[in-house]
Amino acid sequence: MLQTLKTYFGYDSFRPLQREIIENILALKDSVVLMPTGGGKSICYQLPALLMEGTAIVVSPLISLMKDQVESLRANGIAARAMNSNNNDTENLMLRRECVQGKVKILYISPERLLMEQNFLLKDMRISLFAIDEAHCISQWGHDFRPEYTQLKAIREQFPQVPIVALTATADKITRQDIIKQLALKNPKTYISSFDRPNLSLDVRRGYQQKDKTRTILEFIFKRPNECGIIYCMSRDKTEKVAEMLLRHGVKATVYHAGLSASARDKAQEDFINDRVQVVCATIAFGMGIDKSNVRWVIHYNMPKSIESFYQEIGRAGRDGVKSDTLLFYSLGDLVMLSKFALDSGQQAINLEKLNRMQQYAESDICRRRILLNYFGETMDHDCGNCDVCKNPPERFDGTIIVQKALSAIMRADQQIGTRMLIAILRGNFIDELVEKGYDKLKTFGAGRDIPQRDWQDYLLQMLNLGYFEVAYNENNHLKITSAGAKVLYGQEKAMLVVIKREEKETKGRGKKKEAEKPALFKAHPDIIVGEEDQLLFEELRLLRKRLADQQAIPAYIVLSDKTLHQLAIQRPTTLEEFGMVSGIGEYKKERYGKDFVETIKQIIGK
Ligand code: ADP
Ligand code: ZN
Repeated sequence: MLQTLKTYFGYDSFRPLQREIIENILALKDSVVLMPTGGGKSICYQLPALLMEGTAIVVSPLISLMKDQVESLRANGIAARAMNSNNNDTENLMLRRECVQGKVKILYISPERLLMEQNFLLKDMRISLFAIDEAHCISQWGHDFRPEYTQLKAIREQFPQVPIVALTATADKITRQDIIKQLALKNPKTYISSFDRPNLSLDVRRGYQQKDKTRTILEFIFKRPNECGIIYCMSRDKTEKVAEMLLRHGVKATVYHAGLSASARDKAQEDFINDRVQVVCATIAFGMGIDKSNVRWVIHYNMPKSIESFYQEIGRAGRDGVKSDTLLFYSLGDLVMLSKFALDSGQQAINLEKLNRMQQYAESDICRRRILLNYFGETMDHDCGNCDVCKNPPERFDGTIIVQKALSAIMRADQQIGTRMLIAILRGNFIDELVEKGYDKLKTFGAGRDIPQRDWQDYLLQMLNLGYFEVAYNENNHLKITSAGAKVLYGQEKAMLVVIKREEKETKGRGKKKEAEKPALFKAHPDIIVGEEDQLLFEELRLLRKRLADQQAIPAYIVLSDKTLHQLAIQRPTTLEEFGMVSGIGEYKKERYGKDFVETIKQIIGK
């Protein structure tokens, strides 16, 4: 098994559970595999496919996913093919012949096609195993229900001796039981791996206004000149505005949302996969078909409605295991909007609870990863060291006077104002509506002038979370003081607020800090790259990879993953043998690309 892993995929060891799963399949037993995105599910059926006689049939719901998988297998010299509605008749004819002759090791097929073929092609083939990818699509409880999947039960009856493995990244229990039942699996073994993604950093910024978001996003992207990422926004309109803003600043960006034509969406996706654009500004419609392993970051322009959505979306970064960054903006406006959606939805109680958990995550003053994993039913016994809370634990101060100023302004305006008006009163801004209502005559008018507007946004969000006031969603979002708030207002209790730290203040004179933190993180997760990397060399290797990819019209990450590319810039192999030892390079890639890479490395390091 290890030999095959090294020869074809270039890896030296298995990830947790991979070996057990493969052994179960080789013993011709059924399996259910739950692993997070990027956990390494594919190897679990691809490796046994190589070790067993016959063809492995992989059922996959999306043509784009199939295409990506087939390309990366072929890039490793493995006979993989896809059968779906994209093929024309001649292609299908040839493909059927190859299948019957046993020349195909792994055949990807859409569920509807599989059902069409079950009494014809499949009968004439020797089948080693069935892998059902994205198996949660079979369940009506899941978020991607596909009716075609429910008929897959037929394969268990028709091919009783062939092992079936069902794989998904969706963890919940109902879905898991549904998968077993619907596929009629025989005493399947279930494998659940940790949902932790240690290579993803977690960062939350609270109470930012648009201007601050723009500045932060631009700084973030300029710090990562060649790294691509996704910005998720709540509305279609926002995706377009953010993309325009980026284009104005010279960042190659595109838009993806359900309001675009199918061809515009395909183009956006293709441009992103092939590194022709650096950033996709998207609604939640984007992502399911994306297997791009080198998405280096994900930004949430707005807060998602639940931790599931959030985790799925940030999960699109760093599938190759290389360190990747995620950033969530969390504002009062988002919260008001999302609460409204939840209240108007059919499942009010559930959706409010989900939103509440998401909010707790964003508000957390303990390690954020602990909160995430806890939500998925895992407990973590240490802080992660890779989230903003771990890196910069929040400091509190006595903010009673600040809170009193705000609450007293609300009170004096008869609790008939929303946050925008409240901030205008506190800051002493003579806006029309404010003067009309006579709020400029209030005693608190201008009482908070010393605090910048954006800090007021932050403090108000903190106050809401501390329960000092509520938002009356059914009354124009006016603010209502609670009994806890009244206690602070009348001096019976103190209010402890979190010190606001802005990026600019943080980075000054602390440039080295990040470096110092690296070792602990890497020690805990040996899978993450260690060593001194030659930056210049890395960029040259990246260019070479892009050239090789364009020649073959495949995405760059299929030629070599980012992880392997980093490894090359660290190990700097100057012979074919050394090149072949690098993790992620199997025999086929060694033969195909070794010479080009070794030569470039020699040139750059001057050997
Ligand atoms: P999933 O389908 O679970 O999202 P993939 O199968 O695409 O994940 O694997 C994610 C990444 O991890 C791929 O780049 C894959 O090559 C890599 N990978 C898988 N197994 C191993 C291993 N044993 N050692 C090193 N890298 C691995
Ligand atoms: Zn942490």
